[in-house]
Amino acid sequence: MLKVENVTKYYGDFKAVDNISFEVKEGEIFGLLGVNGAGKTTTFRMIMGLLECSEGKITLDDKKIDYSVTDQIGFLTEERSLLTKLTVKEQCLYYGTLKGMKEEDILSRMDELLVKFEIPEYKNKKIKELSKGNQQKVQFITAVINRPRLLILDEPFSGLDPLNIELFKKEIIELSKSGSMIIFSSHRMEHVELFCKKIMVLLNGKDVLSGDLASIKKKYRKKNILIKGDIVLDEIRKIEGVVDAYPFNDGYKVQIENIDMTSNVFNYVKKCNNITEFVVEEPSLNEIFIAKVGEAYEK
Ligand code: ATP
Repeated sequence: MLKVENVTKYYGDFKAVDNISFEVKEGEIFGLLGVNGAGKTTTFRMIMGLLECSEGKITLDDKKIDYSVTDQIGFLTEERSLLTKLTVKEQCLYYGTLKGMKEEDILSRMDELLVKFEIPEYKNKKIKELSKGNQQKVQFITAVINRPRLLILDEPFSGLDPLNIELFKKEIIELSKSGSMIIFSSHRMEHVELFCKKIMVLLNGKDVLSGDLASIKKKYRKKNILIKGDIVLDEIRKIEGVVDAYPFNDGYKVQIENIDMTSNVFNYVKKCNNITEFVVEEPSLNEIFIAKVGEAYEK
């Protein structure tokens, strides 16, 4: 298990990470979220042992993270760091050797991953000859070549098309099923929702929202009602308990203060024509994120 306990990081007098704690167990995918400059990269660097914590401690299976465990860690950085003059094979051999793997194991794992990512024909091509998306695949392959126990993915989908996002998703889920602990960071909340059961939202280095995603959603009082049919938005907006209402897909989304306000909206909708849908749903992570980060800024 990865344990981050009361960790703080100062750069000089500036507190970039402020007393955060979380755990990631085998097979879990944990989402670390935050606006730009919130402290995510600093946290990742401390987890990888590249930066010392100013206070608190980080352990992997109760051991401090140092060079003896780095071969169990894989990292996909936000800034891509491929050696572009090397071929894909040379790149894999380079990273695999750094992780202490035998050449034959590196090559067989590389072949397996190149097939999974649908680029076996690029094995002997130089990285600089590949498209950005394919370079991203190679970077991911090198990050997971050693089947890491702990995998850190910082914005893994940036620059990928939807088909390639699916390929990455499949592999990430497979790794988690085989027991890897995964920390996932993305500005795209819909990606975080797909994978992560537990999250933490950082703002100015502080934990402003954390825990189990399903219970965070349940506890968040505002709900949405999806409606299809002939309603008048201006009339809906005047109903007690309605926070906002706007067109959504081929219907409307109505945000209400809390679940008890549902009947106010329902009483109005009953009088309207052609109603084909009335569904109460939990808010999206994106809505909660924006509200929480906004609230914290106002404090
Ligand atoms: P982004 O989403 O933009 O990558 P982030 O959440 O990863 O942001 P960090 O890179 O961890 O944020 O930065 C957190 C804060 O620490 C920022 O205010 C940043 O300016 C500051 N910071 C980061 N690295 C250093 C450094 N080496 N020296 C001084 N301040 C730093």
